[in-house]
Amino acid sequence: MGYDAIVIGSGLGGCAAGATLAGAGKKVLVLERMDVLGGRCSNKERDGFRMDIGCHFLFGCEHGAFEEACRRVGKGGILKFDHPDNLCIRIQDTVINVNPQEASIDGDFIDKITINLAAGMSEMQSMMPPELMNMGIGMMTQMMPMVTAMAAPIIEQFDDVTIQDFFDQYIEFQKARDLVEIIQFAGFGTPSFLTPVSEFMRTMLGFLEYYKPGMNPLELMGYPIGGLGMIPNTICSGIRDKGGEVRVGANVRKVIIEGGRAVGVELDDGEVINAPIIVSNAGIKETVADLVGEEHFDPGYAGRIRDLIVGISCFTIRAALDTKVTDLDGFFCIPQGNLDTYYHKLWDEKVIPDGPPAVMWSVPSNMDPSAAPEGKQLINFVGALVADCKQPYNKIEEDALSTIEQVVPGFKEHLMWYEFLTPETYIALGEQGGPAIGIGQCVGQVGKNRPSSKSPVEGLYYVGAECGVDMSGIGTDMATRCGLKCGDYIVQNS
Ligand SMILES: Cc1cc2nc3c(=O)[nH]c(=O)nc-3n(C[C@H](O)[C@H](O)[C@H](O)COP(=O)(O)OP(=O)(O)OC[C@H]3O[C@@H](n4cnc5c(N)ncnc54)[C@H](O)[C@@H]3O)c2cc1C
Repeated sequence: MGYDAIVIGSGLGGCAAGATLAGAGKKVLVLERMDVLGGRCSNKERDGFRMDIGCHFLFGCEHGAFEEACRRVGKGGILKFDHPDNLCIRIQDTVINVNPQEASIDGDFIDKITINLAAGMSEMQSMMPPELMNMGIGMMTQMMPMVTAMAAPIIEQFDDVTIQDFFDQYIEFQKARDLVEIIQFAGFGTPSFLTPVSEFMRTMLGFLEYYKPGMNPLELMGYPIGGLGMIPNTICSGIRDKGGEVRVGANVRKVIIEGGRAVGVELDDGEVINAPIIVSNAGIKETVADLVGEEHFDPGYAGRIRDLIVGISCFTIRAALDTKVTDLDGFFCIPQGNLDTYYHKLWDEKVIPDGPPAVMWSVPSNMDPSAAPEGKQLINFVGALVADCKQPYNKIEEDALSTIEQVVPGFKEHLMWYEFLTPETYIALGEQGGPAIGIGQCVGQVGKNRPSSKSPVEGLYYVGAECGVDMSGIGTDMATRCGLKCGDYIVQNS
């Protein structure tokens, strides 16, 4: 059976590239080493609890790249998302609540503020007829690609300015700096002393492109009904419908190069499969060094890829509770101040700092009741960790559990069991260091400096949260857009 293209890995980048190629009439084979599809966007089941490998919230949702990837293989409109309506951020004794009606800050944070979002919106609407308002927003969103293009050279000037240096100029209040730190960390998976402020700007503009008139902005953020695995499973079922094949438990050990071009792959059992196009979602560093071999690349290029910094890894705690203990959909918690000092110690010294770590959590069963048996609750917690840590991981496990017990009333009493996942879980997906997102959105490797999806080896491409010139944004959305863009390029040029 001849294939036009082989995709190595079924992460969202691989799925989106595969969907684009299959939708354009190419015969596609997707090879996934694990026994489930989706990589860092997958889930598994235990005792009726559906646990996601990644955590919290996706961006763009039914208005963004996931939907586009589904649409390309005839599966548009199938994915459904629940959007958060009850979020909370706790910075020591300060609690910030956000829901579609109201954002309120309780405690010592500049001053006690309550912003009534619903009242604010209706006041704006009463000042302007709805048609006019929708037309204005419509025009604004139509113009967004133009605005983005015009803003690109300005934004580029901030590629060398870290979020930390940028905000240090404007924010002295420590809790506000910690708030910026956790939000940007959740988005980019790198500490603020590494992330350029340009990534923040590009990401914001990217989301505005998804915005449609009349939409509640919180609709751009959500959780897929059926769990994270719904996204790769839906896309891959579309690839099969288009005549493609998807195999799980198929580890590619080598990309075969002949006459300087990629011509096929070899699996662990020795099976050789040929195709003129190989799209690797297996991590750019691993593809160059392990699957292809550096000898097939110019030494300068191979060295550059070898030196890419990957984002930070993480630990996750998935907790099964025998009853519902919280109404929140998601939560950030910074129990001790100076988060950036904490991340410096973790990242630079590879030690787990003393004291409770910052955690982000999501409650999948509040957004999709099928995530837990009736009457029970599933909570996912995630925090930063490094794979080459000098101390045993159980130090952070204990510290995180003590944070959780303090901020989630009833947690200890109602906990049935929990699973503690370490960077090794993410390393098993193929990438050294087990980054939560992919290559770091760091100074020196964003914007034009991100490695291109087109490799110097003819017929070989990379996709995912690993590459793509000018790709920016948040994990799953960025990986999917990279796959779509790379797929378009291949279709137009082959
Ligand atoms: C704990 C956690 C929380 C996260 N939270 C969020 C969030 O809230 N929002 C968000 O948008 N993003 C989040 N992310 C990030 C997001 O999940 C990733 O950035 C994104 O899913 C990466 O997609 P990818 O295409 O790069 O592929 P990956 O998910 O890395 O998939 C690569 C696939 O390739 C397979 N593979 C590797 N090598 C081989 C081989 N040799 N042969 C065959 N198959 C191979 C792997 O098994 C894997 O399935 C989170 C990640 C983690 C870990």
